[in-house]
Amino acid sequence: MILRRGSSGVLVRNLQQALNVSPVSGTFGPVTEEAVRQYQRTNGLKVDGVAGPKTLGHILNRQRSVFTESIKEVVDKIKPLHTPTATIEDKDDPEEIGNLDSTIEEAKICPFEEELMLLISGIKLTRRIDTVFVHCTATNQNATVSSIQRYWRETLKWNSPGYHILITADGGFTYLQDFNSPTNGVAGHNARSLHISYIGGIDRNGRPMDNRTEDQKRILERAISEIQKLVSGIKIRGHNEVSKKACPSFNVLTEYTHLLK
Ligand SMILES: [Zn+2]
Repeated sequence: MILRRGSSGVLVRNLQQALNVSPVSGTFGPVTEEAVRQYQRTNGLKVDGVAGPKTLGHILNRQRSVFTESIKEVVDKIKPLHTPTATIEDKDDPEEIGNLDSTIEEAKICPFEEELMLLISGIKLTRRIDTVFVHCTATNQNATVSSIQRYWRETLKWNSPGYHILITADGGFTYLQDFNSPTNGVAGHNARSLHISYIGGIDRNGRPMDNRTEDQKRILERAISEIQKLVSGIKIRGHNEVSKKACPSFNVLTEYTHLLK
């Protein structure tokens, strides 16, 4: 993979984001080239303004460690606040969201799905869990994680998030809550369940629609498989199986039949 002047597409966007190039246009022009040179200069790489395997590899490794750190920070921050015996609020309907303000600062989103799988596989469960519920946020696919969190905190006055894991349309994720602490996913079921959600699930008119991206489909399934390794025999259910809701806008039972053998 080589990105250079004239290259375009999602990888160029990723590169621009990584190098803080503004605007993030997806087109590799002189500004991006200079940013690549600057990065190469700072990091002792050959300075040619071309992002080849060495430069891209270097950027990727640096990003990975940044995001791995941020995941650790989140986990460390959450752990002391919640113990497995903490009072459960047990509120329902995390996705009754309505209009979201997307102007606030974006939450840290890890773009590497391997990090999510590693994260899940490393979790030591100390509470008894028997079900993983799958959700959608019932928002625009581009709704920001921060706006969703703010809705829970400020509008619903929740102290806990609605889900443990939230997956963005472009395949990133946020780990919002330690698995050992419940979240407000489905009232009456939260003490023994995990909640995982994708951003989206409605069409332009607010009607239920399975608009998961390929990334979201894959990551949801992989995450569920990892969770199955943590809790053998865990039930996989859609929110709509226990509430009068369309969430997650697809049939979880048929979707994951092959995982339930
Ligand atoms: Zn739901």
